[in-house]
Amino acid sequence: MENKKLILNIEYFLQCAGNCAGCFLTRQERESSEVFNGLLLGKVNEILSKSKLEKNDNIIIGFGRGNLLNLDYDELNLLLNLINEIEQKNKDINIKYEVSTSLIGKLPLMIEKAKYLINKNKNIYFNIVINSEIASKNFWNNYQTFYGDLSKERYSWGITDETGDILVLNINPESLPSIDDFKKYFQQDGKYNGSPFNISVFPFANKLDDRSLQKLSEWLLELYEKTKDFDLNIKNIIEGVIKTSNFSSLEDVVNYHNYGKGYYYFISKNGEIIDGHFSTMGEVDYPRLLDKYKIDPDIRNAIKTLNKNKVCVFCEHKNTCLLTGAYLSAIANIGLGAKSVCPNGYQGLFEQVASNLDASAS
Ligand code: SF4
Repeated sequence: MENKKLILNIEYFLQCAGNCAGCFLTRQERESSEVFNGLLLGKVNEILSKSKLEKNDNIIIGFGRGNLLNLDYDELNLLLNLINEIEQKNKDINIKYEVSTSLIGKLPLMIEKAKYLINKNKNIYFNIVINSEIASKNFWNNYQTFYGDLSKERYSWGITDETGDILVLNINPESLPSIDDFKKYFQQDGKYNGSPFNISVFPFANKLDDRSLQKLSEWLLELYEKTKDFDLNIKNIIEGVIKTSNFSSLEDVVNYHNYGKGYYYFISKNGEIIDGHFSTMGEVDYPRLLDKYKIDPDIRNAIKTLNKNKVCVFCEHKNTCLLTGAYLSAIANIGLGAKSVCPNGYQGLFEQVASNLDASAS
């Protein structure tokens, strides 16, 4: 039987010194020093036990969504205690923990805290979340120092497979970063350093125009072409969906999509458990995406909305769009007025990936 994948994201601490346009957290949340850990253990255990997990299943528990490396040492110890208790209750399953950081702050201090955490628990990794707005040379330098220092630390324990920490780039279509720049920082000695890289494209913060969507579409294609040898989640997800989703009807897509229900959970700062579809490309900001843009996550309603858009209705890649979760930002953008181009910017990329897969199969 296929191993299950379960992702559980927790709103644990929302403070961050950044102020990026398009951030889903409010200013008030980013300034708050509150830690939302009340009753968390019971909720995490409830989810894990109802999911009937086995040892080889892939379980990821993410602690987000601000910069957790702003927590002080007492608070980090509380987090470690919580993780320890989760492990005590779930001894038979392997869990990876992803702690979120924006790397905005005093870098040496953040590195020191990160090392403290990973030395206490070797299943802890980092989700380095960056908004494209601050993807400057300075940020990439910090990223490389942080990533390099943690790699050295793990290397000293004998871990040479460096694929644990993940960079999540939240793309704001109005401020697209230079692909050549960040590509450079993913290389060591001229070669790709193996770090996984995830992208989340969020809907426009303020305004929407087709020209920006067109630019986003071109940027995604450039990214794909220039990073073919990278372990790019966006590429892996699209390829995986195209290879496994040769459905003959939309009804089959709906059933396949609904099958994923239950493998993605989110615990909000209010302790509410949100049980969502596993929609990888919308995963990072899923609950707030639904809330902010009043998106109805029901896949049948999503299809109806896409079909009202004149580009989507004839799109040959609708299945891929639905199954990757890319449709979530499309629906938000349709609501904001996208009309004459693909409303999430992915159509060209889906086309390119599909044609490359065809070419390599023949
Ligand atoms: S890829 Fe773009 S055009 Fe195609 S269905 Fe999705 S949002 Fe619509």
